[in-house]
Parts: sequence; structure tokens; C-alpha cells
Amino acid sequence: MTKKLTTTAGNPIADNQNALTAGPRGPLLMQDYQLIEKLAHQNRERIPERVVHAKGWGAHGTLSITHDISQYTKAKVLAKGTQTPMICRFSTVAGEMGAADNERDVRGFALKFYTEEGNWDMVGNNTPVFFLRDPYKFPDFIHTQKRHPRTNMRSPTAMWDYWGQSPEALHQVTILMSDRGCPVSPMHMNGYGSHTYSLISADNKRVWVKFHFKTQQGHEFLTNAESSAKIGETREGFQEELFGAIEAGNFPKWDVKIQVMQEEDAGNTPYNPFDLTKVWPHGDYPLIDVGVFELNRNADNYFAEIETAAYSPSNIVPGIGFSPDKVLQARIFSYADAHRYRLGTHYEQLPVNRPVCPVHTYHKDGKMNVMGPQTGAGDAFYEPNSFGGATQSPEFAEPALKISGDADRYNHRDGNDDYSQPRALHDLMDDGQRARLYSNTAEAMAGVPEDIINTVLGHYDKISPAYGDGIRAARAKLG
Ligand code: NDP
Repeated sequence: MTKKLTTTAGNPIADNQNALTAGPRGPLLMQDYQLIEKLAHQNRERIPERVVHAKGWGAHGTLSITHDISQYTKAKVLAKGTQTPMICRFSTVAGEMGAADNERDVRGFALKFYTEEGNWDMVGNNTPVFFLRDPYKFPDFIHTQKRHPRTNMRSPTAMWDYWGQSPEALHQVTILMSDRGCPVSPMHMNGYGSHTYSLISADNKRVWVKFHFKTQQGHEFLTNAESSAKIGETREGFQEELFGAIEAGNFPKWDVKIQVMQEEDAGNTPYNPFDLTKVWPHGDYPLIDVGVFELNRNADNYFAEIETAAYSPSNIVPGIGFSPDKVLQARIFSYADAHRYRLGTHYEQLPVNRPVCPVHTYHKDGKMNVMGPQTGAGDAFYEPNSFGGATQSPEFAEPALKISGDADRYNHRDGNDDYSQPRALHDLMDDGQRARLYSNTAEAMAGVPEDIINTVLGHYDKISPAYGDGIRAARAKLG
């Protein structure tokens, strides 16, 4: 039987075609509250898009742990044999919600695991590093990726001006301008936790860790020309590929791996292991197998399950911890704060964000607090209390951090080697990859004033004279 159309309060609607008017040519009646409700809802159909990572594609899936890493972590979600439901959201960084999927950009790679110890979010990218290592620079960097306030257009001049004065960015820029900067679909790229995190074992020992998610579909990419042609055909290339593959039962998979560094080694590496612009070389810190995740179910409602999915690095579980990575520390605040603004104070109560385990907190009231008291006992609305409300669990305390120093503002560019790691990447590329790296970079520099380009080329020369000269030759070819 067809279901009855109702108002949001459940009252049946007699006519959803014709407005209530005083005669066929007469004015509307205020009492047609169903019309008012309909128009009012339409006005409220949009929420603010994300400031970064606005355009996204996602799906539900399952994480399976196939290897024993219990020597490093007590996290139940990482125990061998465990399967955990999850939801994943991929995204571009700079484009707005309507941006074309196949543009060259870094891709977000955000994973939410619904564990029995609360949600664990891994909010990574398809690159192991980022453009900056000090969170003071994040708003400035993002401004260069967004629209110029006067022209309302993207500004390559702003991008290269910023990068030329921020050589720590050129490792990430090298990846962005390489084949990996334009993957053919979300399924054909790796994910990286990027930050250094920590793992805590059952005997409360800490190691530092990097997370890697390696595509089983292989790396496939589009050249600049192919990407332009693709965007001419469709602006939704990634959505079509990912949604279509899952609908057809071709479930994409990623191998989950980690690199582990002993806690005391952090002071001995030639690079700062908490620097987001650096990788840990595989030769020093080999990849360790952990498991695999598969995406196997499309959302029934994109808005409810993908657009309002709220990922935050602050969501961790016992056995997984943070590190002194400054950008991670800032994101622990700023991601949850972005959701409070965009979705509302109680965004964790939305079905897609709601943990599968019991939640007990003394946060109270506020707009859209639909869960009612969550303190664990009716008379307990403050803590401590004598009424059986939820209490802290000291057994989850992490070992004390042994890293400390004098509180000061340390110049993050002083004595930092920003050239060796992009050099290693440049050198491992074959001739074809390098040629595309040079031409993609040259094309991205179109229209930028020469003095700004010369500053950047000076940095490329320091990475490798061949890199700088390669870009110069590619620019000359463009004319
Ligand atoms: P390795 O030779 O062991 O690793 C090089 C890695 O580079 C590969 O494993 C692959 O990562 C990755 N890679 C290949 N082509 C590209 C590309 N176009 N863009 C980005 N990454 C690419 O050497 P090292 O570990 O000593 O690292 C050398 C350089 O490789 C680093 O300076 C860094 O730029 C880059 N790299 C290193 C990673 C790491 O965690 N050590 C991870 C990714 C890149 P993958 O196996 O993840 O696909």
C-alpha cells in the first residue's frame, strides 16, 4: 500500500499539488502551513560545505586484521582476526563541492572505524607528507589554494609565491605534480595516515607508528591532457567509478601496513620523525603487514552518510595514541571544531557518526541533543557524584611522554633539510615519470611572475639541478 504523505509532525497532507487560495485568482492563505513548511525546508537544504575537502566520495566497508601486531598495540580493533565496520570518505582538497573530480590535487583519505572501544578515525591523504610542518601556516597555505579575494579566481601566483617562501612544501608539491597527483579514481591510489601516531602495548610501552593503506587495484593516473578531456566529459568521474564499482560488486581493497619506530629512537633520526613534511625511509623502517580493508556498500543517502560523516584525528581508541607532530596536535582541535560549526555541537549523535559502543558523557543540552542524558544514571548530571554516574577509567592512561623541552617558538625552517627527501623521490622516478613531473610543474606555473618562478626554481635546483633544469626546459617548450 502506498504510504501516506504527511507534514514533518506526521499530519496527513490532503493536497500536495495546489496551493490554498481565496478563489483560483485570489491570494494565498497563511493557513496553508504545509506550503510554508515545504518552502522553509527547501531554504535549509544546504549546510556549509567543508572549508577544505569539500568534494568527496565515500562508501561503507570492513577492516580485517590478518596479522599479529599485539607486541606493539593492545587496540582491540588491531587484534588479529578482528573485523570492524567502517566508512571511508575520499576528497579533493581545494575544490568546492561542485568541483570536477578529476582535477590534479591531493586527495583526502578519511577512514572511520566503528570499534567496540569507540570510533577510531584515520584522517589521512593519498600522500605520506604534507605542505607544511607548523600549523601556523595552515590557514595561509589554504588561502593560496582557494580563490583570490578580488578576482574570485584560483591564483597560481599565490600558490607559487607561498611555496617559493616555504621550501618544506616542495616534497608534497613534487608528489602533487607527479603521476600520483592525478589518480584515475579513488580506488587507484594509496592512503597514508601521514602523521606519526603512537601505539601502546598491553604492558603500556609506546612505539611511534606511521599507517599506510596500499591500493590492491594498482596505481593508475591521468596525464594533464587526459584529465582535461575527462573533465570535459564528466565532472563526477570519481563518484561514477567508485559508486559503479561497488554497485557491480567489484569491491576495492587496500592492504593496511605500519612502520614502527622505538620510542627512544625519535631523538636519533637525521630528520624530525614528527615532521609532517618527511617520510620514514622504508629501508630504515620497513612496512609491517597488519590487514586489509574493503569497501563493499554504497551509502543509501549521500547527504546523511557521506556529506555529514565527521572525521577527526581526535577520535582514537586505547592502544593508539598521538605524537608530538605539531600539525597533528592542531588538527586534533580544528577538525572536531569544524564539525561543531558545520554540523552542530552534537554532530557525533548523527547516525553515521554515532559510536556502536555505549557513550557516557556529562555534556549537557544544546541544539539537536537527541540522545538525552548520557551520564549513565538519572540523578548524575555532574561529576563526581554519588548517584552511580559514569566515572573515569585509569587503566587507559598512557605512559608519560618522555619528550620535553623549553617552551619557546622554534624556527621550523632553521637547519631543516627540505631537499633530500624530494631528491630521493625525484631520483627514483623513471624518465617518463620525470618528464611528466617537469611538464606538469611547468604548466602549473603558467602566468606566474618571473621573479616568483625564479625563487622557486632556486629551491628545485637545490633538490637536484636536473629537476630545476627539467622544469626550465619544460617551460621553454610551452613557450
Ligand atoms: P623506497 O624506494 O623504499 O620507497 C619509495 C616509495 O615511493 C615507493 O614505495 C612508493 O610508495 C613511492 N612512490 C613511487 N612513486 C611515487 C610518486 N610518484 N609519488 C609519491 N610516491 C611515490 O624509498 P624510501 O622509503 O627511502 O623513500 C624515498 C622517497 O619515496 C621518499 O623521500 C618519499 O618522497 C617517497 N615515498 C616514501 C614513502 C615512505 O613511507 N618511505 C612513501 C611514499 C613515498 P608506496 O610504496 O607507498 O606506493
